[in-house]
Amino acid sequence: MIDLRSDTVTRPTPAMRDAMHAAPVGDDVWGDDPSVKRFEAAVAKRAGKDTGLLFPSGTQSNLAGLLAHCQRGDEYIAGQQAHTYKYEGGGAAVLGGIQPQPLEHAADGSLPLERIRAAIKPDDFHFARTRLLALENTIGGKVLDADYVKAATDLAREHGLATHLDGARLFNAAVATDTSLSALCAPFDSISLCFSKGLGAPMGSVLVGPRALIDEARRWRKVLGGGLRQSGIIAAACHHALDHHVAELAEDHRRAARLAQGITALPDLKVERQATNMVFLTVPESHIVPLRAWLAEQEILIEVLYATRLVVHRDLDDDAIERVLGALDEYFTRRAA
Ligand SMILES: *Cc1c(COP(=O)(O)O)cnc(C)c1O
Repeated sequence: MIDLRSDTVTRPTPAMRDAMHAAPVGDDVWGDDPSVKRFEAAVAKRAGKDTGLLFPSGTQSNLAGLLAHCQRGDEYIAGQQAHTYKYEGGGAAVLGGIQPQPLEHAADGSLPLERIRAAIKPDDFHFARTRLLALENTIGGKVLDADYVKAATDLAREHGLATHLDGARLFNAAVATDTSLSALCAPFDSISLCFSKGLGAPMGSVLVGPRALIDEARRWRKVLGGGLRQSGIIAAACHHALDHHVAELAEDHRRAARLAQGITALPDLKVERQATNMVFLTVPESHIVPLRAWLAEQEILIEVLYATRLVVHRDLDDDAIERVLGALDEYFTRRAA
């Protein structure tokens, strides 16, 4: 099977499983798991923040971050396409009484400064209290421009807002731009980082930030059911990914570029864009059903839609990419015959 649906489908390598097997563990709710502590410290150091906290998922890490920053009746500004707003079941509103203020993105994935400024409410009891600006990097595979991030977070701070980054794929941004993780994290108070995407761990995200905020997030993690016991087994997998899989993300980016280039040479499919490990295509309606069937027959998993997203990851090698391009080419050759 060649699975291009997401980079979450990556499986732990034998070396990662060895690291999990060998991990010393304890009860992390009691603060007794040495592997978790060591991993959280390593991530915090890499991110240039005080401290880190391991979560089972990125959704929970983001949510605990939002709950730590905002009270009931507060509001956070995010993008219409932001994971925290659109893909997390409205958790901040459901569980925190926190109102999202979604904004339209610019084409590069940013939230234009003028829109942010206009969305920040004055101190008036008619309005929710605007408390937080939440950005996402990468967003739709795209790396946010560093000058933009600085300007947006400066603007937030001028208005007394805290700042959070959903950095589920921030390591991709770091590798793609040859920038340190700490430089990408510096403008934000808190950052959520995922190890279960392109980095290949079976699960695990870390929220990094100042100690007082992370202490608050720890309370919320318990409330949300995310206080885990011998989670050193998970931390060891994530730590292995941190030590061994980050630089290899460059290979995913190279392969995504090759995939985009190969598809550009095919008829009818339009490559809208490629950035880091993602390729976005437009598939004409007439091809959607037959192409889906053909790819399934070839044991290639792609969610074929009008707007199709292909995600490259460490479980796909050069041969896999060529096989996908070959299958697409054969599809069009057969249609023409
Ligand atoms: C995957 C992802 C998350 C977290 O998702 P989980 O499946 O809960 O780990 C958060 N933000 C973005 C942008 C993501 O892609």
